[in-house]
Amino acid sequence: MSIHDKKPYGPIRVVLSEDEMPRQWYNLAADFKTPMLPPLGPDGKPVTPDMLSAIFPAPLIEQEVSQERWIDIPEPVLEILSRWRPSPLHRAVALERALGTPARIYFKNESVSPAGSHKPNTAVAQAYYNKISGVKKLTTETGAGQWGSALAFSCALMGMECKIYMVKVSFEQKPFRKLMMQTWGGTCIPSPSPYTEAGRSVLAKDPNCPGSLAIAISEAVEEAVSDKTGSTKYALGSVLNHVMLHQTIIGQEVKAQLAKIGERTPDSVIACVGGGSNFAGLAFPFVKDKIEGANIDIIAVEPASCPTLTKGVFAYDLGDMSGMTPLLPMHTLGHEFIAPTIHAGGLRYHGMAPLVSKAVLDGLVEPRSVHQLECYDAAVTFARTEGIIAAPESSHAIAMAIREAKQAKEEGKEKVIVFGLSGHGLMDLAGYEKYFAGQLQDYEFSGEDLENSLKCIQSFPKPPAAVAR
Ligand SMILES: *Cc1c(COP(=O)(O)O)cnc(C)c1O
Repeated sequence: MSIHDKKPYGPIRVVLSEDEMPRQWYNLAADFKTPMLPPLGPDGKPVTPDMLSAIFPAPLIEQEVSQERWIDIPEPVLEILSRWRPSPLHRAVALERALGTPARIYFKNESVSPAGSHKPNTAVAQAYYNKISGVKKLTTETGAGQWGSALAFSCALMGMECKIYMVKVSFEQKPFRKLMMQTWGGTCIPSPSPYTEAGRSVLAKDPNCPGSLAIAISEAVEEAVSDKTGSTKYALGSVLNHVMLHQTIIGQEVKAQLAKIGERTPDSVIACVGGGSNFAGLAFPFVKDKIEGANIDIIAVEPASCPTLTKGVFAYDLGDMSGMTPLLPMHTLGHEFIAPTIHAGGLRYHGMAPLVSKAVLDGLVEPRSVHQLECYDAAVTFARTEGIIAAPESSHAIAMAIREAKQAKEEGKEKVIVFGLSGHGLMDLAGYEKYFAGQLQDYEFSGEDLENSLKCIQSFPKPPAAVAR
């Protein structure tokens, strides 16, 4: 069926068969007009692949620095992805009607994965490459619990151990996420924990510390590097180049799905950004088209309370709080920035994937921010029209899609809008509860906040002025 066949609407759910699934990942690094800046070590010199080998297996390090445009997806990874991929592309006809917009709105539904978000797309690949490299156990951190769930699921399928340090407040607020990880055989412990040097030193100062992503990263990395046999490695769910790469199957599927129904190139492609991976996954294949001349607005949506791309600076900064990671060239609010406790936990990150930052600097991607109340309004409208209860993170993309659709209505334009539904919100209903009770608020971010939070990066090397703009 094509969008031209059936009036007044075309197909509602566009599915591809397993053998139409993309068999390669797309590497945007190959198509930038100017090279990316390298990550730097503590000595200010570019990080060598060697330095990464304490925590990552060789095939992932190779992908991290690769300049190849297309990278084959291994057969065993394709086989596992086939359990839920290709994921459906939906036409949001009910939402269009509710808005009275002439726009055609599509959303890519990544909530259909077993763990409920896009994160298994990379978790499966990472677990696979670790497995074939002889690794027996993966450690990681998780905030809201989505990444921990995805990695526990993937390790179960690969027959590997999985240890997850979960930020203590979330661990206590979200017992069901922990149970998901346990069901898949993962060990989920609250961080700060007494099991690592990093955890013990935090607990010594503050036994009631609620934890943070940065502390959890430190604990997970420490556990990986202190296994001198090399059979324990660490896995990261966003930010790094290889993670962006693994997600690009999303956007490639969308292009095939739009083509299948005779839909034209979209006017707007929209996704939320925390570390950047679901956005990269949906958007990078369209960024390629844009580099080749297509006219597409590619919009990265972040919380107004954690406005890394719209208010932050492009600089060298740490990925974590304690200096375990190299210095990354990215937009940042400063690694000591603590975002307000908004319910989109996956978007409360101070930095950004260097690939996404580069695309923004090059004018290929337009960042925008939205406040949390507008996001929940949008998510509730979406639930009451399309029926799906979205993750609080994904609600940022919905809110922006609704803005674009309303603008199309004002302009009387038959726009084509595609947005990413990065996950469902069935484990995040506490946020909805607070919204309905009127207990949620918007947080303004000020220039003064920024000045304070950037103090911690003053002594770091600076990117060349011509790049930083
Ligand atoms: C983790 C997460 C995000 C944010 O992470 P990105 O790397 O920016 O994609 C967004 N949506 C959902 C559902 C998530 O679980």
